[in-house]
Amino acid sequence: MYDVAKIRRDFPILNRRVGEKPLVYLDNAATSQKPRQVINALSEYYELHNANIHRAVHLLAEEATAAYEEARGKLGRFLGAPDTTGLIFTRGTTESINLVAYAWGRKFLREGDEVVLTESEHHSNLVPWQLTAQATGAKLHFIPVLDDGTLDMEEAERLIGPRTRMVAAIHASNVLGTINPVEKLAALAHEVGALMLVDGAQSAPHTPVDVASLGCDFFACSGHKMLGPTGVGVLWGRPELLEEMDPFMGGGEMIREVHLDYSTWNDLPYKFEAGTMNIAQAIGLGAAVDYLEGLGMQHVREHERRLGEYAYRRLSDIEGITTYGPKEGRTGLVSFSLPDVHPHDLSQLLNDEGIAIRSGHHCVQPLMRRLGVPATARASFYLYNTEDEVDTLVEAISHAREFFRPFAV
Ligand code: PLP
Repeated sequence: MYDVAKIRRDFPILNRRVGEKPLVYLDNAATSQKPRQVINALSEYYELHNANIHRAVHLLAEEATAAYEEARGKLGRFLGAPDTTGLIFTRGTTESINLVAYAWGRKFLREGDEVVLTESEHHSNLVPWQLTAQATGAKLHFIPVLDDGTLDMEEAERLIGPRTRMVAAIHASNVLGTINPVEKLAALAHEVGALMLVDGAQSAPHTPVDVASLGCDFFACSGHKMLGPTGVGVLWGRPELLEEMDPFMGGGEMIREVHLDYSTWNDLPYKFEAGTMNIAQAIGLGAAVDYLEGLGMQHVREHERRLGEYAYRRLSDIEGITTYGPKEGRTGLVSFSLPDVHPHDLSQLLNDEGIAIRSGHHCVQPLMRRLGVPATARASFYLYNTEDEVDTLVEAISHAREFFRPFAV
């Protein structure tokens, strides 16, 4: 049985107080908290095994290498990757997407080629493609977001055409909570001979992911949003594509032979892991994956689906509030705004109640323009949040609404 009280005991930070109030942490889409099991894996690594990997033959180096490669295996299984050849450790989703935009995009895109994105991309799946487009002469096109927060799939079918070389889209929106039909987008991309990249920053932490059944060619996610440490994430890519690509960064470990005037490259995945990697963090991410699998991703998804729907319903009942994104088929986060209250002022007031939410453009400025607002407030839930916390949030927002009423213009 999914026992939230028991789960919460694994997260020391959830016992913190903010002034006199118990912490209510609802900023999980920005970063998740870490269970003791992950924190212990980090200290154990540093206390017992710390050494550089893949190089020395002494015992510590062998232990560190084995633990790092074991973590790679865990991530591969977690994402349904057929093998770990295509499983590259990066700093996170941002670096993973930059790797593809740079190492694939700059080598294979030509003037007039097209990359199709969506209007709701996080800056990390937009700006790298803008840079690549500037360097290659490729053009960017955007699948529009409909008023209900879903993608305009009719327009997607029109936009993905013979000049399309890459379709790159978020699996789940960090603002709208929409889960995009990436399998369908991958099929459309493949019909015209294009590739599909999925930004899984907001899906891998929350729902079972299987890259094989998604049918994508690249999948990116961040460890710190899925119980793992900061500074580590993953790019999975089809090995035959990664083979064809040039390296992203040069340096130690990614080479086979180095001469003064040329070098040759190491095998996958090491070709894309230049220099000393975030060894401890990768091992910590392996421990995070163990923890998630121990709970079962289907159960995590179900818990968050129920909590997200409950929050969406309760928040929608607040007088004058606007909630964003589809009513159904959403992840466990809700973005909203109140008339005459700036989201920053609201989150400041909620902080006084011990509640951590996010306010701002959420690194999705084009989507904010599409929604016609400069910023929204966002409450994002994770596997340790409770209905009581949603109630505390709703009550605090209702108080804030009263507090700001006299200042309404
Ligand atoms: N993509 C989406 C949808 C996100 O929500 C985020 C982070 O909020 C990112 C990408 C970037 O992740 P990171 O900063 O871990 O690289």
